[in-house]
Amino acid sequence: MTQVLDGAKVRQEILTELKPRVVDLTAASRPPGLAVVLVGNDPASEIYVRGKVKACAELGIFSQQMSPPASVTTDELLGLIENLNDQSNIDGILVQMPLPSHVDSRRVLEAVSADKDADGFHPTNVGHLVANRPAARACTPAGIMEMLRRYNIPIAGRKAVIAGRSDIVGKPMALMLLHEHATVTICHSKTSNLAEECQRADILVAAMGRPALVTREFIKPGAVVIDVGMNRLSDPATVARVFRDSPEKLATLERKGSVLVGDVDPADMAEIASAYTPVPGGVGPLTIAMLMANTVMLAEKRLGVR
Ligand code: NAP
Repeated sequence: MTQVLDGAKVRQEILTELKPRVVDLTAASRPPGLAVVLVGNDPASEIYVRGKVKACAELGIFSQQMSPPASVTTDELLGLIENLNDQSNIDGILVQMPLPSHVDSRRVLEAVSADKDADGFHPTNVGHLVANRPAARACTPAGIMEMLRRYNIPIAGRKAVIAGRSDIVGKPMALMLLHEHATVTICHSKTSNLAEECQRADILVAAMGRPALVTREFIKPGAVVIDVGMNRLSDPATVARVFRDSPEKLATLERKGSVLVGDVDPADMAEIASAYTPVPGGVGPLTIAMLMANTVMLAEKRLGVR
């Protein structure tokens, strides 16, 4: 029987386990603190940041939101980050991406002190990941590892294929699976036969941002399929094709103007995989949970608790 991997359930488990650690920190010293830097008024970024601040409140983590205007300069942002690096009640700093095009994103991300890097993007922490040493890890792939672990999905000795090589999902995902002894292949836009590569996977991770590109001929029967993609479809004919004329999805399109779809064809995945993450409700809920986990871990290190 096909197993649906429930991100909301895993998210709740992670948050429930974090709660007593937050209580211990608060009793021993102070609550963990997360600073979130949101530049400008991008609606999608505002939604993400709201979710992060809300998760902090639920857990008893102190959160501080900084919202400079879209016209902020690189130097002004560097100054702001420097202040947060020095602020003693802040353990984690997150800069919401993307930044406006005139800002040097790399310089800004690298300005975050490595021991306050809640997103695991700082080169020092990427180095720790490569060397398999403990440090804050990129949240989305770390959440996927938690999901695989909690569903007892074996990794060692299995063939994992990652479609996508971004710094925030594909590459760290490949390293994390490698450290758990999978045999890993990384694919990208220049991979010559993507379907053939993916077909070999016991564990297939799709992280390309290409709506429903992965169809049945990409999926080995019985594979575990992790669909990281979050894409919005607004064309009625495409929605009808991808969702097999689902009245529910067509009604959502009518109501909201778009429908969310992953990188994997949902019907093909449900039919062929042994286990898979749905979109929405699979990988999505895990990212914020792992951001909270990173923040608590950084606070424990900073405060010497645990
Ligand atoms: P990204 O930075 O745009 O990277 C996309 C990667 O996919 C690139 O490596 C690109 O290859 C590869 N790619 C694109 N088209 C391809 C194709 N036709 N065949 C093979 N490879 C292809 O994206 P990202 O930030 O990693 O995000 C990927 C998806 O995950 C997006 O839909 C995003 O919204 C979603 N996401 C979800 C969460 C979550 O919490 N659920 C978190 C992060 C991201 P090249 O390197 O050759 O260009």
